[in-house]
Amino acid sequence: MDQTSQLPDGRTQAMRVPASTGLSHPWLVASAPALESWVAAALDQHARLVDGVTDGNHPRTLEHTLRRYDDAVAVLSAAGSQLSLLNSVHPDKSIRDTAQAQLQLVAQAGVALGLNRAVYQALGAIPMPTDDPATAHYLDRTLLGYRLAGVDREEAVRDQLRALQEQATMLSLTFGRNVQESVGTVIVESPEELAGLPEDFVASHPARTEGEHTGSIVLTTEFPDYLPVMTFATNAALRRRMFLAYQTRAFPHNVPILQELLKVRGEIAALLGFSTWADLATADQMMESSAKMQQFLDELEVATRQGAEREYALLLGFAQQAARAAGVAEPAAIDAASRGFWMEQYRRAEFAFDSQAVRPYFPFARVQSGVLSLVEAVFGVRFEPVDDAEVWHPSVTTWDVWDRRGGNGRLGRFYLDMHPREGKDKWFSAAPLIPGILGQQLPEAALICNFPEPKDGNPGLLQHSDVSTYLHEFGHLMHAILGGQQRWAGNSGIATEGDFVEVPSQMLEEFFRDPGLLARFAHHYQTDEPIPEALVERMNRASAFGRADSVRTQLFYTSYSLDTHRLDPATLDLEQLLEADYKRFLPYEWVDGNKLHASFTHLTGYSSNYYTYLFDKVIAIDFFREFATGDLLAEEVTTRYRKEVLEPGGSRPGRQLVRNFLRRDQNPEAFSEWLAEAIPADGTPAEALPV
Ligand SMILES: [Zn+2]
Repeated sequence: MDQTSQLPDGRTQAMRVPASTGLSHPWLVASAPALESWVAAALDQHARLVDGVTDGNHPRTLEHTLRRYDDAVAVLSAAGSQLSLLNSVHPDKSIRDTAQAQLQLVAQAGVALGLNRAVYQALGAIPMPTDDPATAHYLDRTLLGYRLAGVDREEAVRDQLRALQEQATMLSLTFGRNVQESVGTVIVESPEELAGLPEDFVASHPARTEGEHTGSIVLTTEFPDYLPVMTFATNAALRRRMFLAYQTRAFPHNVPILQELLKVRGEIAALLGFSTWADLATADQMMESSAKMQQFLDELEVATRQGAEREYALLLGFAQQAARAAGVAEPAAIDAASRGFWMEQYRRAEFAFDSQAVRPYFPFARVQSGVLSLVEAVFGVRFEPVDDAEVWHPSVTTWDVWDRRGGNGRLGRFYLDMHPREGKDKWFSAAPLIPGILGQQLPEAALICNFPEPKDGNPGLLQHSDVSTYLHEFGHLMHAILGGQQRWAGNSGIATEGDFVEVPSQMLEEFFRDPGLLARFAHHYQTDEPIPEALVERMNRASAFGRADSVRTQLFYTSYSLDTHRLDPATLDLEQLLEADYKRFLPYEWVDGNKLHASFTHLTGYSSNYYTYLFDKVIAIDFFREFATGDLLAEEVTTRYRKEVLEPGGSRPGRQLVRNFLRRDQNPEAFSEWLAEAIPADGTPAEALPV
């Protein structure tokens, strides 16, 4: 646990650990009251540092003023991230509840700091450094953040803003927790209804022998149940029930919460002189404004329209042909609950690719060690398991990151919490826990995932989409660790513009497509045979089919995220808008009863800025081309990527990171080619390979 011994300049952990608690991590506390004192100590330390910033006896300098400000930010950020983690993963509900309540206190301190005029003036009085662009960038962005928060408004307005911000935080937290704790169930009366599902799935879902629903199989809306049913179940009624159970999580109780949140955000934007929340939320982003966002979305809409129409026509024709062959009525359309199923059937038939055929090559344990060693090779690092670290659940593993290329010793630590359990967040995410500060504290981060768990002889076979999700989250993790060696916490790790953060994650996903890299770890769980190259090729061709559609699915989410944050909340009909945005982008028949907005947690975190995924996908594909022109692991390009994109953390503007790595401006060429790989211009799918 101790990481102070090797620090060069004598600064110690005292900065990051509230000294009076004597604990380095809040999950080491055994009770809710102990967690409360841990937070109180952190807030106390934060307050003392803030006092130091505004202390009138000191000249305003980087070393005095900005250092204290940054340490105050670091303490708050570590407390907030670690409480968020506990709120998402702690097995004890009373700790989760306390963490959520305490998060509001931390958020309040954050809002107060963001509107503290004395701090703003002290920071503004620091002479802007001329020989240190990273620090100048930090100071610049910090002052901009203050102005966008409304620090120069009169006091009554600042009070109002403070109250509204706190309300927004509370509403967001409640919304998220409702989703986390809302698990839908689907009752299956007979095993025949599970037709089409993999054998290991059926075997691990026996009928209940006691309690409620005795004699029936109970499926849940958790991912390890949801995804296989939507992909493989031949029973359309079962798919539809699962779809509706999934899309009605946290409905209806989250609807008024979301409405209130949108109203509060609208008021904040208005007080700050912006016509919509979406304009406020893009003002300090690479995107710059909601008008530019709309233009970006319109361009993608045009770029994907024909491809998506062709994909849908091929899929529908295929489903109709299958119906004729089976002697049943031809479907007139494919609905949203059947999209995944027909996509899978089509890929099997047209590309000789059965996604179940790759699963035996992806047992969880092998994938995990394979992803770790792949990432070690890409980033020039070494991961070492830490066996004696105390964690929040026995299934969590702890790893130290050591530098193999730069000779910098230990770079940080991460935690892997990989399987679902009751009360745990259902999604997949990477969570920074402690921001790194060069010479002061090492970064820490965690992955929170919900992959099938190997147990009782079941190897926990993943789907190929799970493996790319794993890589995606690892991209975030490495950004947090490698970018966590900055002079300032505020520049550390993923502290880039918010709309750059999905670049490193989506870039790493692309590595999944390389047969050579996959064969290094994807070995059959029974025979140990490496995954055949031809199978990977077929998988790649098959998964390229549907790309236009997947981009349009993102366009649907993106437009909903934008529209909910720019239309008048007083007259906004969330359901009607959901259906309208859906129909604008997706040809699959709308399923009545879809209440996705009640569980769309990105609306709280990303607010109007869900566009980040698509915006960054275009950049990530452009980046990947730099690798794909030769050996993916070539030292020159992997080192350049680490140095120019990840290591700078948030110390440079996103556009500069892009230019420095590409050695040119970014353009959409690679993305267009990526889209066109799926279906050539003549409308027929790419030629299938022999089995
Ligand atoms: Zn991500």
